[in-house]
Amino acid sequence: MTFMLHGKHLIAGQWVESDQTFVSSPAFGEAHSFSKGSLAEVNAAVEAAEHAFLEYGYSSREVRAEFLNVIADEIDARGDDITAIGCSETGLPEARLIGERGRTCGQLRLFAEHILQGNYLDKRHDAALPERQPLPRADLKLIQRPIGPIAVFGASNFPLAFSTAGGDTAAALAAGCPVVVKGHSAHPGTGEIVAEAIHAAIQKCGMPAGVFSLIQGGNRDVGSALVQHPLIKAVGFTGSLAGGRALFDLCAARSEPIPFFGELGSVNPMFLFPHAVSNRGEALAKGWAGSLTIGAGQFCTNPGIAVLLAGEDADLFVSNTSEALSSVSSQTMLTDGIAEAYRAGQQRIASTSGVQEILKTSCDSRNATPYLYATTAKEWLLNESLAEEVFGPLGVIVLASSLEEMQKVATNLEGQLTCTLHLDEADMNEAKCFIPVLERKAGRILANAFPTGVEVCDSMVHGGPYPASTNFGATSVGTMSIRRFLRPVCYQDIPTALLPADLM
Ligand code: NAP
Repeated sequence: MTFMLHGKHLIAGQWVESDQTFVSSPAFGEAHSFSKGSLAEVNAAVEAAEHAFLEYGYSSREVRAEFLNVIADEIDARGDDITAIGCSETGLPEARLIGERGRTCGQLRLFAEHILQGNYLDKRHDAALPERQPLPRADLKLIQRPIGPIAVFGASNFPLAFSTAGGDTAAALAAGCPVVVKGHSAHPGTGEIVAEAIHAAIQKCGMPAGVFSLIQGGNRDVGSALVQHPLIKAVGFTGSLAGGRALFDLCAARSEPIPFFGELGSVNPMFLFPHAVSNRGEALAKGWAGSLTIGAGQFCTNPGIAVLLAGEDADLFVSNTSEALSSVSSQTMLTDGIAEAYRAGQQRIASTSGVQEILKTSCDSRNATPYLYATTAKEWLLNESLAEEVFGPLGVIVLASSLEEMQKVATNLEGQLTCTLHLDEADMNEAKCFIPVLERKAGRILANAFPTGVEVCDSMVHGGPYPASTNFGATSVGTMSIRRFLRPVCYQDIPTALLPADLM
């Protein structure tokens, strides 16, 4: 590795050191000392972002597209170091870090293309009707405009694609909004080297220095102060329900409330229909076990619940899933805190009345092994906590006595990122009445697939009703995510010379 970590914040083009520090807690390798963020850094970064907005918010789409492409190039140029630091901090395997870098750079380049096409501006024009009776109509033009400085909080489980230069940052920069990232304390070194790449791109492209800042964490007050700063105009957040809700409440309580786009937790239930279970139950069990344990189950789209009809086919599905899961070896979790929360979640499920332990394993320190439990739909409907996310490779099978009861489970779900149907042709009629229920529950509905793996494209929705997200009209993945950082403005009879360049 050639990159030497220095542990500083990047504030408006300067690497800044704080008096106070915190020490990283890598899965393996050397721990490093990092500057702890404070209110002074928050103020400096946000004020510089506002200053940068006066130029960057009015830059051309071509200029911003070039900037996004150069950021991607600079990240790729540091690829090996990013992989080495990321693996050490998170314990994720090398292939995962390489793949996630591809996705991160891919989404930066996708946004560059997207803004060049210009459709996202959603331009509208109602021409003047001076002769209209009884009243004439003025000339009305509408376009989407960037909203100002954005605060971004990345998640621990995606150190690249949902972090410093992840989807929120890419979307905000594409829209024309400067970004202040609150670095995740689980991967501060990965944040630092990615910020180095963005810094290099700022210099190469001659961007205003305040267009991007990274404030390292180590202090929860930094996040609270950032979302409450009057110059911050929206927040992009990926993380836990508890953290997201705390910051959402702060945004709502501001004297000028601002949108908080939080992508939070989800249990991603799967509904398995009788013919599919009967015809290919074993393959479904193996597929589920794979999806449930990939990345130690630390995916927001991890399918934690399988709902199916009780009976012989279900019994076979339970034993096949248990067998497939029992061969999965222990995996390192992202942080000590996440490992601890996993054990607490497992205890919660195991001690719920009416829950049967199917596969018991044991995990300690920062390791995770899979667990499998079964319960009846009747019990599941009585115990709200069985519907809560356990972040890790833990599955709950819910056995229903009828399709009506399966549908009742669907009706009682909270908001989800995804819901999945496993069905054969002969299940189609029964499955049809689930669609109106599930489309009110989830941002994405899948058939005969597993929800882990979120394509970055035009049609993706990564969001959903609360608590999957705090804003169900939005997505945090895919090109539509740019809409979070734009606001429609109508220009009435404004002379052409005064209109934004994109409207001319
Ligand atoms: P997290 O603990 O909520 O942390 C996310 C960020 O928020 C960190 O920067 C953290 O600061 C900060 N934070 C958390 N609570 C705060 C508070 N009360 N005040 C101020 N700042 C606060 O989440 P995580 O551990 O990174 O991620 C795991 C969770 O994210 C899982 O539940 C998973 O399902 C969810 N997730 C959701 C999605 C999605 O798209 N819906 C994607 C990935 C993960 P520190 O650095 O100080 O911890």
